[in-house]
Amino acid sequence: MFPLPKTGIPGATFPAVPSSTAASMMLGVLHQLRSTQLLPPAELQALQFRQLSELTSHACRTVPFYANLLRQSGIKLTQPISREIWHKVPILNRQAVQEAGAALHARELPQGHGSISTATTSGSSGRPVTIRKTALAQFFWQCFVIREHEWQGRDFSALWMTILRDDLRTDPAHSNPLRRFPDWGEPLAAIYPTGPGLLLDYRVDVAEMFRIIIKEKPAYLTTFPSLLRELLRESHASGVLPQGLLEVRSTGEALSTEIRSLCGELWGTKVSEIYSAAEIGIIAVPCPEQNALHVQSEGVFLEILRDDGTSCASGEEGRVVLTPLHNFVMPLIRYELGDRATLGAPCSCGRTLPVLRTIPGRARDMITTPTGERRFPFYSHGEMMKLDAIIQHQVAQTAINQIEIRLVVRRPLTVAEETQLLSIARAGLGTAHELRVVYCKEILRQESGKFAEFTNELNPSL
Ligand SMILES: [Zn+2]
Repeated sequence: MFPLPKTGIPGATFPAVPSSTAASMMLGVLHQLRSTQLLPPAELQALQFRQLSELTSHACRTVPFYANLLRQSGIKLTQPISREIWHKVPILNRQAVQEAGAALHARELPQGHGSISTATTSGSSGRPVTIRKTALAQFFWQCFVIREHEWQGRDFSALWMTILRDDLRTDPAHSNPLRRFPDWGEPLAAIYPTGPGLLLDYRVDVAEMFRIIIKEKPAYLTTFPSLLRELLRESHASGVLPQGLLEVRSTGEALSTEIRSLCGELWGTKVSEIYSAAEIGIIAVPCPEQNALHVQSEGVFLEILRDDGTSCASGEEGRVVLTPLHNFVMPLIRYELGDRATLGAPCSCGRTLPVLRTIPGRARDMITTPTGERRFPFYSHGEMMKLDAIIQHQVAQTAINQIEIRLVVRRPLTVAEETQLLSIARAGLGTAHELRVVYCKEILRQESGKFAEFTNELNPSL
């Protein structure tokens, strides 16, 4: 059914008159996206290069890192940029972003890009980077979130449940894990009327979590794949099936085909996922018609490259290199995310946006307590990041009663820092495990190419 936006004028229900400036801006962009998704690829790419030229000329004028790059390499990023020049721009990896620090920050911003926020992410390699973003970059992120809702044709009047960490729940041992909201929240509820929303804190026992799902009957459920696996296991063991569940939205980790098909078999429910990264925004979302992921080319310029830097052909796996088009406060130009992916053949749905075959793998597991319970490790990732001697970390369960905190450090931690680290870990992981700090030269990726901040090496299986 056509989703009718909220109206700002009583009585003018159809067509709706948007209720705020923000809603009008968003609907204005969404209107364009409905056309740009159908453009011939060359035309879309030409528009991307217009926006890339805006970004690169701004970067050369106001970002010291790019001003130096320009001086040293003689690459003229200040002119309207061509594909030929583009391919000469060096790839920026995570380590370079870490090292560049404030040299990647713009000294000034064009008008209207809005306020600046920061986020720290360990991403796929476990090396923390702090990213600055403008309100404009967040605005485009939100537009793609809404576009995905529209593509999927979801019933906005239904109940949406999210199972993630509820940061406002400061006393997980004693407080109610479920919070109720009148709608699905931003950004969708800013422009469309929606049904109610629920936030279930993942820091509860899986059996309890499943009981809440059965009782509340959400139509849509967002959660981690590893948690979905636990819920499916609980459902299978108890013989109880959720009623009215239309779709599970996987987030935060790679979704294995095994879990996807188990969810289909046991619950008869499809599982969808979005490919995104904190540094970039939304990268690709599922096609509503075909088994494909469409790159959100109006927000990000995506390249899949061979090791020698040349572009991969369709069907050939390579390094994912991304340029977010609208974040002028910390331009990331040809940023290597650390993922590997493969471009697919054009989609038969009619959308000409490039196709990724699959979402690159990510993995995180659940912790096993000595009494056999499974739950998420909820140590404070952000707190751990504040210890600036740490370059990379990983928390690994290596035995039923033992957890290793693996660290790659710039310099040895002081006694006080190590005590702080252990208390952060203890606060989140509980007291059931022996904690051990292990210093490493490098923490290797998993076979999938992704890095798990937490890894359960007890080999859990469904
Ligand atoms: Zn498609």
